[in-house]
Amino acid sequence: MSNITVCARFRPLSSRERSNHGDSVCVHGIDTETFVFKDEKEEDFSFSFDRVFYEKSEQVEVYEFLVLPIVQDAVNAINGTIITYGQTGAGKTYSMEGPSVLECDELKQGLLQRAANGLFECIKSTEGSVKHTIKLSMVEIYMEKVRDLFDLSKDNIQIKESRVQGILLSGVTEIAISGPADALQRLSSGIANRAVGETQMNMASSRSHCIYIFTIQQELAKEKRVKSGKLVLVDLAGSEKVEKTGAEGRVLEEAKTINKSLSALGNVINALTCGSPGKTNHIPYRDSKLTRILQDALGGNSRTALLCCCSPSSSNASESLSTLRFGTRAK
Ligand code: ADP
Ligand code: MG
Repeated sequence: MSNITVCARFRPLSSRERSNHGDSVCVHGIDTETFVFKDEKEEDFSFSFDRVFYEKSEQVEVYEFLVLPIVQDAVNAINGTIITYGQTGAGKTYSMEGPSVLECDELKQGLLQRAANGLFECIKSTEGSVKHTIKLSMVEIYMEKVRDLFDLSKDNIQIKESRVQGILLSGVTEIAISGPADALQRLSSGIANRAVGETQMNMASSRSHCIYIFTIQQELAKEKRVKSGKLVLVDLAGSEKVEKTGAEGRVLEEAKTINKSLSALGNVINALTCGSPGKTNHIPYRDSKLTRILQDALGGNSRTALLCCCSPSSSNASESLSTLRFGTRAK
């Protein structure tokens, strides 16, 4: 009954993890849904998810299982959200963008490029009867402030709610996308702005949430009506715990803010999955900017996919366990 699909993905060992003698792989796959995870104390934990992607998995497998169904729905005016969660270095951005959003090796292209292609494929199949328009916005949430990645002067975007249009980012830049190649250029320019901001503000991308919003409008010629669906992809800030000792000032503030918004996300997802049918329970969307922005693409009729990204290495076991537990709670 749940509209939430939760998957785990283990990236390959990094060269550092491979050359580190104390490191071992702590994931033992049972099948495509179940694995055993060994923590630092050699204790075994068994996990199951809707699907597990092991280190040899290809980007296309993740796309087809997790994202394609949501792309198809978005074209039919059903909102959907795809979220990558995990500690810094776990593979969130690689899953979203591949090595780079302009990556030419098709095999390595991430969920973003595939989703953009998928949207245009889907609307092609309805050509004639319906006229579609696809628009893209990109924002980043850093320290609870929403920044427009297509216009850095808009550095404190307000979130509004309208009865007709749902959640709105007030004044955010929306770019009409003419096709898959155009989408990649736009995505790439937004991502580049993210990097500019980073050096200016001296912040690492792993400290902010990056949100890609595709809005798909359809004009039904006969009915003189416009329907629209949203496809939202979210590359979350790293979920790692910051050492209590040592972190101070800005680093500590960042960590607290990230923690708060990630737990707000966890609470919203739990409230959505735990609610009893027919009963409306309170969903705490207003507890963070992140959950507020996602409000109309998370819950209700909309579909959600959560990809829990993990390192396979024993040296990251405790962070991976915490990521996997976040995923388990979301089911
Ligand atoms: P995050 O965004 O979670 O901080 P990244 O996506 O940047 O982590 O991944 C960290 C490193 O691991 C990058 O060098 C990336 O290329 C590599 N990596 C991550 N996932 C994979 C994968 N599935 N296959 C190959 N390399 C990967
Ligand atoms: Mg990243």
